[in-house]
Amino acid sequence: MGISPAVVYTEADRNAPHTRAGDEVIAIGASYLDIEKIIDASKRVGAGAIHPGYGFLSENAAFAEACERAGLIFIGPSADVIRKMGLKSAAREVAEAAGVPVVPAFDPGEMKFPVIIKASAGGGGRGMRIVHDASQFHDAFESARSEAERSFGDGAMLLERYIEGARHVEVQIFGDAHGNLIHLFERDCSVQRRHQKIIEESPSPALDAELRQRMCAAAVAIGRAIGYTNAGTVEFLVAPSREFYFIEVNTRIQVEHPVTELVTGLDLVRLQIDVAEGKPLPAPPRLMGHAIEARLYAEDPANGFLPSTGGIRMWRPPHHVRVDAALEEGMQVGIHYDPMLAKIISHGTDREEALRKLILALKSTRLLGVTTNREYLIQILETEEFREGRASTNFLPSPAQPDHLTHIAAAVLYLERTRTTPFPNYRNNPYRDPSIKLKIGNEQISVHLRKNEICVGQASLPVLVLASTTPNQITLAIDNITQTYDIAISAGHIFVQSQSASSTILRLPRHPRSAAATQRETANSPMPGQVLRILVKEGQQVKTGDPLVVLEAMKMEQTIRTTINGVVQSVLVETGQVVAPGQMLVQISALENES
Ligand code: ADP
Repeated sequence: MGISPAVVYTEADRNAPHTRAGDEVIAIGASYLDIEKIIDASKRVGAGAIHPGYGFLSENAAFAEACERAGLIFIGPSADVIRKMGLKSAAREVAEAAGVPVVPAFDPGEMKFPVIIKASAGGGGRGMRIVHDASQFHDAFESARSEAERSFGDGAMLLERYIEGARHVEVQIFGDAHGNLIHLFERDCSVQRRHQKIIEESPSPALDAELRQRMCAAAVAIGRAIGYTNAGTVEFLVAPSREFYFIEVNTRIQVEHPVTELVTGLDLVRLQIDVAEGKPLPAPPRLMGHAIEARLYAEDPANGFLPSTGGIRMWRPPHHVRVDAALEEGMQVGIHYDPMLAKIISHGTDREEALRKLILALKSTRLLGVTTNREYLIQILETEEFREGRASTNFLPSPAQPDHLTHIAAAVLYLERTRTTPFPNYRNNPYRDPSIKLKIGNEQISVHLRKNEICVGQASLPVLVLASTTPNQITLAIDNITQTYDIAISAGHIFVQSQSASSTILRLPRHPRSAAATQRETANSPMPGQVLRILVKEGQQVKTGDPLVVLEAMKMEQTIRTTINGVVQSVLVETGQVVAPGQMLVQISALENES
């Protein structure tokens, strides 16, 4: 477009790839949310306009106003529209006035369960609780409200009927300064965890042409009613009965906009800039083929989707699909920002083809050094429910238990071959314990190496190491099947990845100290994070399930609870402290005579 970009970065992002993408690059201190610093940086480089991305400031009316005051074009809707749509309760009124059905809402006195409690100012699934009967209501309401107050500075809550088995279907709209308002079809974002999307596609397999036409018309009606300009998304829920209900408007470009780009051939960010410059919108496009996006997150699906951190040791994005990411080897995934690492987006002539391409792309993606949801995404895409286009917002299969056997073999043989740490050899050292001790998850495993054979626990595998010229790889023939494993070693861990599995293996010392039986229990941090609140004092008596500490990482809260009855011996952390996974937070001595 002939535009010279300037970018801003925070201290934590000093070496992030985007700092090399700008013609001018400006440090703004600790936070991307510092409006004054960003406006100041814009003035220093003589910027004409600001694209706010899709972070918090993109939906912040005060920021849009600050841009206007500084004579900068804010690339997005007007501050007025942002403010009005920022509250779900106000947005509902607009939708109702435009004749669009909204989810039935309740007053506290007359609820029909199940109910969903939502923060009116909410976003990103925070401040939201589903309640199935009256007895749970009070606690859920209080915890949702306090989360909303902390996250959004606004404790106004909304009670809606919880629609079981709903599909999340949203319509992309675009308005220009000449009174044109068009829709760019829908996206189905029903596959979610913690009310946050992980897989999105366009078109939605839940709609037929008639329902699509009605929903797109409803979205355009809401846009017109508020004089919407630039990019926006009108979100709906579609009940199993095929009735649809408005839920909210997002007044920004969305994370999942690439699927719309692939099925319309339009570049939505370019269009945002065009519209902000006063150009008219193009003619409404046609829908071409099918696109699906998967979000790769630094998180552990097997451990409650808790965020993970680490240094990226290997990043090989897939070919032949679109990849939106700002990742590189050597980069640190920390606790400061959202755990989304990359978006992988496929396009096909039909859904079946797009799906096949995306599965293949995920299988060929290599990302080592941090636990990700890669295998879980593959698992979801391969389920019958998703393949048949039936996945609703209630769909979330339990993460499959991976089989780490071949990965353990690959790790041990790789270490053996690279000789960074020679292993005891059974034949040469008959007097020493010949086993190698490893830990994977919570399981300890002994491995014995023999000629053309490796024994992992009770299992024994016939294995041949094949010549391999690439570093960070080993090729094995196990049971006559040849496969290549990608390997990275970082912070004492061995990361192994193949087509559809990843393993993180810890090598243990050969002679561990014998752990003395202890009367104490400790609560350890399950994730890297920051201590938000400490809920107990030394000497305090606690019962199983009582909350001890609240941690926060990547904008997500986690409450750590005691698993025993006892007395708090010591609190080992302070509010605000950054803790590592496994770090001891609280020590509790068990009360005697407990059954
Ligand atoms: P946020 O602004 O936090 O993203 P939304 O209002 O967009 O919140 O809702 C996020 C998700 O929560 C929806 O996609 C859906 O899965 C679920 N949800 C919200 N409202 C309801 C409802 N009334 N019934 C069932 N599910 C709902």
